[in-house]
Amino acid sequence: MRKTCSKCGEAFELLPGKPGFVSVCPSCTQSPEASARKAADGDRQHREWAAASRDYSRKLERTRTSDLVLESLGFVKVLGKSFTVMVPKDQC
Ligand SMILES: [Zn+2]
Repeated sequence: MRKTCSKCGEAFELLPGKPGFVSVCPSCTQSPEASARKAADGDRQHREWAAASRDYSRKLERTRTSDLVLESLGFVKVLGKSFTVMVPKDQC
């Protein structure tokens, strides 16, 4: 079905399942506001991810420190299925 875009006035083929308004062509459906919102979303996600990874590396740093303490006490790390246990070195 041929339609005329209400935004840019160009004729376009209306495909079933096209996102956005039926009277707006696919290139106008991807409006600047929508892409800006998407970019802002990505930015926020990136910030959250950065904060999470910062937290994670801080946690890792703490874990490493306590590992060293346990290691000095003769414990080694054994990887379990979903957890990590510390066992005395001579038991593994
Ligand atoms: Zn258009």
